[in-house]
Amino acid sequence: MLGLNMSAAQINGLADQFESADPREILSWANNNFGDKLAIVTSFQATGIVTLHMMQEIAPATQVLTLDTGFLFPETVDLVNALEERFQLNLRRVRPRQTPQQQARDYGDRLWERNPDRCCHIRKTIPLREALSGYSAWVTGLRRDQSASRANTPIISRDSRTSLLKIAPFANWSEDRIWTYLRAHDLPYNPLHDIGYPSIGCWTCTKAVNQDADSRSGRWWRRDKTECGIHIEHIDKPAREGVHA
Ligand code: SF4
Repeated sequence: MLGLNMSAAQINGLADQFESADPREILSWANNNFGDKLAIVTSFQATGIVTLHMMQEIAPATQVLTLDTGFLFPETVDLVNALEERFQLNLRRVRPRQTPQQQARDYGDRLWERNPDRCCHIRKTIPLREALSGYSAWVTGLRRDQSASRANTPIISRDSRTSLLKIAPFANWSEDRIWTYLRAHDLPYNPLHDIGYPSIGCWTCTKAVNQDADSRSGRWWRRDKTECGIHIEHIDKPAREGVHA
């Protein structure tokens, strides 16, 4: 069994080896090597649903973590509940220490407009880091075609934030391939995808975009921000007109 002590050379070797592997093979490898020290982290977007579907045949009791920031779209909440029931997921909703009301009391109203990096840190980065404590590896739905900042995503790497192994079995899959799988298996998905939301986060920070727009461009559209900080360090650029940091 592998663990946290894998060397950089071992990890890079696996990353190369997995480039031509089916995601089921990668997920099986992860389950065989990490067992109950493996967690799937998903926001129940298309790639996450494919991941959960494949895991049904590999290790259906694998711990699933999803961030509930308190600002999820009702459509997302409904989808999470429906898939939890359908797949009988071992699901934990990871919530920040502060409710939205407590955050407003301590940091002021609409922190996501004034300082989204701090808001994401409080509501996403810290809770996930705490939730992953005690695990050895986590699975994510990151894909290279999602944005320029994700273009070099390795299939397996050492996560600098948590020191855990981070596994992105679909890193080299395209958006089309994900949707082909979803439709072929008649899987449910967030209905917001059908009305212009290619990527779905908090309702406070996500808007519909044109069909040909970058898939992450509807996230934090008030800012030059495309990442919450869970996966990729984000340093926000100066505020645009009408937005104060
Ligand atoms: S996406 Fe927006 S509301 Fe959600 S945690 Fe980040 S800044 Fe806050």
